[in-house]
Amino acid sequence: MPEKSTKNLLLTPGPVPLHPEVQKVLAEPMMHHRTPAFDKIFANVLSGLKFIFQTQESVFIHTSTGTGGLESLLVNCLSPGDEVIAVISGKFGERWAKMAEIFGYKVHPIKVEWGKAVTTAQVKEQLDAHPNSRAVLCQASETSTATAHPIQELGNLISNYPNTLLLVDGITAAGAYPLPMDEWKIDGLVAGSQKAFMLPTGLAFVSFSTKAWPFVEKSKSPRFYFDVRLEKKSNSSGEAHFSSNVPTIRGLDLVIQLIQKEGLDKHFARIHRRAEMTRIFGKKLGLELFSESPSDSVTALKMPSHIDGQKVRQTLEDKFNITIMGGQDQAKGKIIRIGHMGYITDQDMLQLFESLAQTLIQMDPSFLNNQKKENFLLELKKWQEQNL
Ligand SMILES: *Cc1c(COP(=O)(O)O)cnc(C)c1O
Repeated sequence: MPEKSTKNLLLTPGPVPLHPEVQKVLAEPMMHHRTPAFDKIFANVLSGLKFIFQTQESVFIHTSTGTGGLESLLVNCLSPGDEVIAVISGKFGERWAKMAEIFGYKVHPIKVEWGKAVTTAQVKEQLDAHPNSRAVLCQASETSTATAHPIQELGNLISNYPNTLLLVDGITAAGAYPLPMDEWKIDGLVAGSQKAFMLPTGLAFVSFSTKAWPFVEKSKSPRFYFDVRLEKKSNSSGEAHFSSNVPTIRGLDLVIQLIQKEGLDKHFARIHRRAEMTRIFGKKLGLELFSESPSDSVTALKMPSHIDGQKVRQTLEDKFNITIMGGQDQAKGKIIRIGHMGYITDQDMLQLFESLAQTLIQMDPSFLNNQKKENFLLELKKWQEQNL
């Protein structure tokens, strides 16, 4: 039986475990952001972000959470009164649509059942119904349901509409699995530091396509801190427009170097393998996937109807010092969500599955009989030998 570790194992879809070297960088003495030493780091991260976004466009840094980046995409691309189409398939889609309403845009929602991905046919139908729509808002990975949306297909579709932009919340996608901004014709993309970028919370990264820039120039939404035109001007002379979050940007510099050293493909493959392992061993435990289009950055497993997911979450934390997430709103108690981004070792994944099996057996002794439990642990071991 696994023993309770003294170290908390953070397996949530953000924040995520930090690389040990990043932790060291974060602890370094403060430096001023208007110095040649910082300018060098700043230049590195601006070009490194382009590498991760897979874009030729500039990527901008806001000192805000991911939600600030979502606000930035809206206020920079849209004007009050503009019509927008919003994919709402979970908590984060709901939030972005609500934000759009607050800024005075007219929102045409596409409501998607939780756990399902939107289809291009649904988006096309809304575009045909509302041909004046200036943007389509969509999560790449809807974290609340662990669902990946077909962004590449949406990019192809929306590229046929010269007056409509595809704005993508890539907060649990950009840097976790392939989401090449230019190739997939994404017009506005946002990422966040505490998710796929494996840093503390507090930075948002945004980028705009060539198609989006005329919208940025013309937007009449009130914007000041998030006005990327200011940031663009300062960045072109190597500076940030406002004060920089120096420690996190130094951490970002290191994260980008680590990813570049490993290669984007290998980095993605490692996250994919954790997701695959979770899907395979979740199934072996008798747990179905909640999502019909599972994301690689987070997995949602359905709980059997007589087991409360919130209790599973709590027990893993209290007994095994492992933090995962439960479901939100309508999925509360019905699912558990396990994050795959961040500095997670293979040993951590094994610890999770041993502890999860133990927790489920504790809640329902008939869940896995002794024979099945032995088999499960043997299979885990075998998988470890073959894959890790
Ligand atoms: C976490 C998350 C957000 C919100 O990010 P904050 O940093 O909490 O503001 C938005 N969208 C998605 C898909 C997320 O996973």
